[in-house]
Order: sequence, then C-alpha cells, then structure tokens
Amino acid sequence: MSMANSSTSISVTLTYLPNCHLRRSFLPNSNSKSKPTRIRCESTISPARLSTQSNLDGALADAVVVGGGISGLCIAQALATKHPNAAPNLILTEATDRVGGNITTIERDGYLWEEGPNSFQPSDPMLTMAVDSGLKEELVLGDPTAPRFVLWNGKLRPVPSSPKDLPFFDLMSIPGKLRAGFGALGIRPPPPGHEESVEEFVRRNLGDEVFERLIEPFCSGVYAGDPSKLSMKAAFGKVWKLEQIGGSIIGGTFKAIQERNQAPKTPRDPRLPKPKGQTVGSFRKGLAMLPNAISSRLGSKVKLSWKLSSISKLDNGGYSLTYETPEGLVTLQTKSVIFTVPSHVASSLLRPLSDVAADSLAKFYYPPVAAVSISYPKDAIRPECLIDGELKGFGQLIPRSQGVETLGTIYSSSLFPNRAPSGRILLLNYIGGATNTGILSKVRTV
Ligand SMILES: Cc1cc2nc3c(=O)[nH]c(=O)nc-3n(C[C@H](O)[C@H](O)[C@H](O)COP(=O)(O)OP(=O)(O)OC[C@H]3O[C@@H](n4cnc5c(N)ncnc54)[C@H](O)[C@@H]3O)c2cc1C
Repeated sequence: MSMANSSTSISVTLTYLPNCHLRRSFLPNSNSKSKPTRIRCESTISPARLSTQSNLDGALADAVVVGGGISGLCIAQALATKHPNAAPNLILTEATDRVGGNITTIERDGYLWEEGPNSFQPSDPMLTMAVDSGLKEELVLGDPTAPRFVLWNGKLRPVPSSPKDLPFFDLMSIPGKLRAGFGALGIRPPPPGHEESVEEFVRRNLGDEVFERLIEPFCSGVYAGDPSKLSMKAAFGKVWKLEQIGGSIIGGTFKAIQERNQAPKTPRDPRLPKPKGQTVGSFRKGLAMLPNAISSRLGSKVKLSWKLSSISKLDNGGYSLTYETPEGLVTLQTKSVIFTVPSHVASSLLRPLSDVAADSLAKFYYPPVAAVSISYPKDAIRPECLIDGELKGFGQLIPRSQGVETLGTIYSSSLFPNRAPSGRILLLNYIGGATNTGILSKVRTV
C-alpha cells in the first residue's frame, strides 16, 4: 500500500541484522534485540605502560576492546570511568574510519536520517549511558500517545496501546480476542523439554490471530526474523518467563507485579529524565551522537582504521593482536581482549585459538535488511492517513500475508523533531529480513 503519490528516495542502505535463527541452542538467554558477541579472554601478565600514542607497535595494554560499535564504546567508557583501575592502559580499536558500527546517522539537504537502527528503548541503563556521555539535553523521546499501526486487509489499523483499548481495536475479530484472553489464562501447557519458537509459543498461548496480525509483523519488522525459527525465550524472554513463574501469561503477570511490589526499592538516579509512557528515544542530531560523544571522551584511546587481522596466545598468558592500520601492520600485546565484532568476524579470528568457540560463533545468522528512506511532500499523503491533518504515529508494520515487500515503515519526521525540511515528511522503510533474503539479488552498486 502506498500512502502518497510522489516521493524522493534519499537513501538506500543494505545491512545485516544479527538474528537468532536455526541454532536455537546457542541463543543468548535474553530478550534484547540483537546481542553483541563478546568473548573475554584474560591472562595474568602484569600491567605495563603503553608506549607513545604515535608508535604503538609492540605496546602492552591491560585491555583491548575490538570493535567501535555501541557495544565496544559502552564497555570502554565503563572501564575508563567506572573501573579505572581495572585496565588503566586501555585501547579500543575499530576497523573503519568512524565509530558507531551499525549506527549510521546522515544529515544532508535539511534531512536527518538513520541507515541502521532508528531508536532505542529509554531504559534506565540506556538513559544513564546518555547522561554519562553528556547528552542529557540532546535526548529526544517519541510521543507515547502516538499510534502504531498494522496493515491488515488494505487498512492501517491501530495497535492497542493499553488494556482498555483491547475490546475496541479492529485489528482482531471477537473470536480472536476471546481466544487470546482464554489462552492468556493458560489453557494449553508448554511441551516438555522443547525450546519453543515465537510462533509455537504465541499460537499455543494466544491463538492464530494474535500471531498472524500482531506478533508475526512485529518479528519481521523489529527483528527482521522468521518467527518460526526465532526462539521465544531469546526474543521475548520477559513474556516467556511469565508462563514459567505463574503457569500462564496472566498468572505470571500477577506474580511479577507482586514480586516487584515486594522487592526493596532502589532510588532512581535523579539525573535521569522520566519517559511519560511506552516510547522510544534518540538524540536531537540522531543516534550517532552517542557513539561520537563516547569516542570524544575516550580520546586517544580510540584507534580508527585499525582492523584486527590475527590473534595469538603468548607464553606469559597474554595475547598478541596484529592489526592492519594506515601505517602498516601494528602488533599489540594485552592481558585481556574484549570482542564486540560481529560473530562471524569473531569466529574467523578465534579459529586458531578455539575450534569450539569458532564453531559456535559461526552459527549466528545475520539476515540482510535494506533501510530505505523516502521523503514525500506533506500534501501528497492521502487524507485518510492523516490525523488532525498530520501524519501522526510511530509507524506501521506489515504482516507477510499482506503481499507487501516492506516489513515496516517508521514515520521518522513524526517521531522525532527536525528530521525533514518544512512541508516534507520522511519515512524509513525496512525491507528484506530472514523471510526475504532474495533482496540480496536486487543489490546494484551505483
Ligand atoms: C537495519 C538495522 C536496524 C536496527 N534497528 C534497531 C533499533 O531501532 N533499535 C535498536 O535498539 N537496535 C536496532 N538494531 C540493532 C543494533 O543496531 C545493534 O544491536 C547494535 O548496533 C550492535 O552494536 P555492536 O557494537 O554490538 O555491533 P556493531 O555495530 O556491528 O559494531 C561492531 C564493530 O566492529 C567493527 N569491526 C569488525 N571487524 C573488525 C576487526 N577485524 N577489527 C576491528 N573492528 C572490527 C565494525 O566495523 C563495527 O564498527 C538494528 C540493526 C540493523 C542492522
């Protein structure tokens, strides 16, 4: 479905989203989006000073963080500021000439767009990182009351945003809602000794309509994943756990509320802003502000265009790392190495040290995803898609059954301020994913 009739495509980027497919036994036990792969190797060599920054060849470090994406930067910032004695001689190395990894914000011609992730969940740890990085005043949070839509049978239908919307939303039929309600009380127990996929768990507990109209599009749009292979425990760990602790989703919810009310209250850091509801966040000039701010604070500890090409173990228990750098090959020796590179990169690098680790890391699947930003004039949007004359909302998800290749669209210029010039709107579309790897054959280099 198209909302408008004249557009300008300003960016198309193809990237890979780490995913939890096929090898569920190796999944991280967590519900976070895409987990970094971190291998921490430690040794007992005594700390030694780094040589001068201009000539690091042969230098000794306490810890080397490999990878300058958000994982590597957060680890380096935590080591440098919260545990300064743990690794006084710390180096972060990044293969490319910029930090941020997947995070790629571009600002051009009055537009500001994201080519990788679009936003973050404003959890307290995330807000703490932003505030610690000096970005409190730069935080922007989406309007929690803005609707989210699912395209179903040719119409964009709002997703319920709170329990009181449940009886009225038209994305599901009355029998579908009743099935979900009874299922949430726990009518079908989990199969013993089997790690369920998202599809198996949701169809069993909440019925086919919840799966097909809500969860399947969510998995495709947010994880670019295949819910028949994605592990429920890994992808939606909090919901999975409800059934474990309370025998059903509703039983577990009551138990979790009870436990939360009984738990000792730790005072919240007063520096942190309080989001007014379920929403997502970014920064005034896009997500790249965070890696750039952390990198500036780390200063000369960050080495750009340093690509780790091999790692070997030293007799004294430490590690020798060989880098390709603009100045030629550079070798570092270090007590500890922290890998935050994509798992297939870590797999190749660690092969000489451990076949077991390398084999496990090679099993993570990264589906291809294209991020396509498109701008339209505001008056090109169909009136029925507007609320009070504006394109309001977070965006829309599209179930695979609806015959539209786009997985989901974020209304970038509605979600955060200053993303498009006046009179224009900016949409970010994600295309591809685990169920449409054929997009790779459509790649053309221009
Ligand atoms: C299209 C897309 C949309 C997404 N949307 C969201 C979203 O909206 N919200 C969200 O929370 N998450 C989202 N994610 C997930 C999020 O982007 C990732 O979880 C996160 O960026 C991973 O960061 P990282 O530091 O672990 O890895 P990366 O960002 O992959 O960083 C790894 C770094 O290692 C470097 N490296 C690789 N090889 C070497 C080497 N040999 N030597 C030195 N350095 C090396 C790379 O250049 C890179 O900079 C999205 C991901 C994608 C792809």
